[in-house]
Amino acid sequence: MLADPRLAAAQEVLGRSLVKAAVADAQQRVREGFADPGEAVEAALALLPATAGGLKSVVNATGVLVHTNLGRAPLSPAAVAAVTAASGYTDVEFDLADGRRARRGRTALAALAQAVPEAGAVHVVNNNAAALVLAVAVLAPGKEVLVSRGELVEIGDGFRLPELLESAGCRLREVGTTNRTALRDYVHACGPDTGFILKVHPSNYRIEGFTSEVSIQELATIGPPVVADIGSGLLRPEPLLPGEPDAAGALLQGAALVTASGDKLLGGPQAGLLLGDEDLVERLRRHPLARALRVDKLTLAALEATLRGSLPPVHRSLRTSVAELRERAERLARRLGGRAEAVATVARVGGGGAPGVELPSAGIAVDADLAARLRSCDPPVIGRVTGGRLVLDLRAVEPGQDEVIAAALERVCR
Ligand SMILES: *Cc1c(COP(=O)(O)O)cnc(C)c1O
Repeated sequence: MLADPRLAAAQEVLGRSLVKAAVADAQQRVREGFADPGEAVEAALALLPATAGGLKSVVNATGVLVHTNLGRAPLSPAAVAAVTAASGYTDVEFDLADGRRARRGRTALAALAQAVPEAGAVHVVNNNAAALVLAVAVLAPGKEVLVSRGELVEIGDGFRLPELLESAGCRLREVGTTNRTALRDYVHACGPDTGFILKVHPSNYRIEGFTSEVSIQELATIGPPVVADIGSGLLRPEPLLPGEPDAAGALLQGAALVTASGDKLLGGPQAGLLLGDEDLVERLRRHPLARALRVDKLTLAALEATLRGSLPPVHRSLRTSVAELRERAERLARRLGGRAEAVATVARVGGGGAPGVELPSAGIAVDADLAARLRSCDPPVIGRVTGGRLVLDLRAVEPGQDEVIAAALERVCR
């Protein structure tokens, strides 16, 4: 069977052992009478995995745009193409004009610098956590970092920013209270041992009521450098998310350094963006730890294409009108007859930013029992169970994937 041209072609991509395993499964099915001996090759082809990697592409119908469990931001078509182009040998650290070594990722860094001209210089590391570790290594080794008690964030999966910072070799000096922190709290705590003042955007919770916090602008008057962790990676203000800080704004307010993620609202690959004063960024780049945190050529390619190329899916999802979503939901419901009902829903940006922001959306509601069966479809469709029903929210679903949802539901509803 392995000599069959289609299975031989599959071996070129998937390798021999995955194809052999599919063939063995198909032969088992023939022996057990589930497949006709004449259809063994077809059965094996149907059993082949889509790729040699274990990760499956899924349909995100959760209504959460930046879903950490589903890989955060999906890449734009431009980023996907750039990753493919960069996957072989590339000029990532090579100048084609003079044939010498060149600065790694210079075109991606130039794209980021161009997107935020307010920054004196920029650098890119593995993720935002790595960006903060590097900031501590350079600005506050063995020193204190001042941070408001209202901004001691747990990112998710038990990872806490305060613990991350301390593990990088600084001491945290908490100031103020959970709900209120004043400028004088920072001023009193500030001294010769202060490495920097950290301003963290509470990207996955909100403190409401009797509250006050200190702006970057005010913090910048105290003296030590202000490092602003804006979290989500918006480079400029986003009118649809007025409460969400952006890199350009934080720099204009006086932050010496801004750190952010690449795979949240920026809509790109996992990366940690560092934007700030030229001298400081140069010190970050030159620190020995920077080498351990450096990004891969695929990340650089995807980041640059995210910045220069087509609109990232997260932004398209954010901008889609609710009328369009409603129309898609109604079309889906009509197609599925009595098995699905078009419903108004509320989508969210997700753990990646804009806590509390409700995005009006639309989707279809089906029997909650279908959740597990939809997860076992190819591709799996992931929804949200609420009020005893499974809701498939369309805001984060590519319009072309409505057909995939309909086909999956038709299969599992039989
Ligand atoms: C998400 C987030 C982080 C962690 O970013 P990673 O890129 O996942 O390392 C840190 N700080 C804030 C405020 C965040 O929102």
